[in-house]
Amino acid sequence: MRALTRFEIRACALALLAHGLITPLVPQQSAVLQPVAASGVGIAVDAGAATGSLIAPPSVPAVVTGVEDASPIARTVALTFDDGPDPRWTPQVLDLLTRHHAVATFCIVGENAMRHPELVRAIVDAGMQLCDHSHRHEIDPSRPGAGMAHDELAELAGTDVPWFRAPGGVWSAGVQQAAGTHGMRPLGWSVDSRDWTRPGVDAIVEQVQQQMSPGAVALLHDGGGPRDQTVAALAQLLPWLASRCYVTTFPDGG
Ligand SMILES: [Zn+2]
Repeated sequence: MRALTRFEIRACALALLAHGLITPLVPQQSAVLQPVAASGVGIAVDAGAATGSLIAPPSVPAVVTGVEDASPIARTVALTFDDGPDPRWTPQVLDLLTRHHAVATFCIVGENAMRHPELVRAIVDAGMQLCDHSHRHEIDPSRPGAGMAHDELAELAGTDVPWFRAPGGVWSAGVQQAAGTHGMRPLGWSVDSRDWTRPGVDAIVEQVQQQMSPGAVALLHDGGGPRDQTVAALAQLLPWLASRCYVTTFPDGG
């Protein structure tokens, strides 16, 4: 997991304060205090930890160090968006992610990429990662490698495509092996937003919130149909995640 930036630590502390999840800290000898200029509130950073610890539940003394389980900073989530790119929805998703300093992995359908190469480049230019989601959103089990879009995506984007996600989540040993020969790792998910069923914005938000846990990989869609509900849900979920000190990462935590 990458270290949090000062911005993220401050944003997290302020968000937790706003939600009443922590109380303002006072300096203690065992902690290094980083003041937050606007409010005069400090963030306790464990001097011995690589990424620092932000620990101050309301019911305990002002500064606690060495309580790994209680550290809200340890929370990561990998957001993934499937079935794009789509000229209507992908730019909106990218805009939201960028505004919230979030990263995500885009599981791209090769046919869509060929139609909209500029969107593939926009995804990469925004600092996101690419995932091959097959050329036509289908894989022939007898020739799994033939349906993969890795090479065309890599050429379009001029970058590595480190992940493969099987269409429909239908995996087999052959599919995994074919992905591996292209240097791709299989990408699943642990949080299913079910946004493709278009259940309404609130239902998508609720699904993700209920299933969220540290280290989660969340499945959403920026293509394959109308995604206005997904975009609206994402606008709510990004601040919600930040308010709980979730940091977005790529699926391998990088
Ligand atoms: Zn898909």
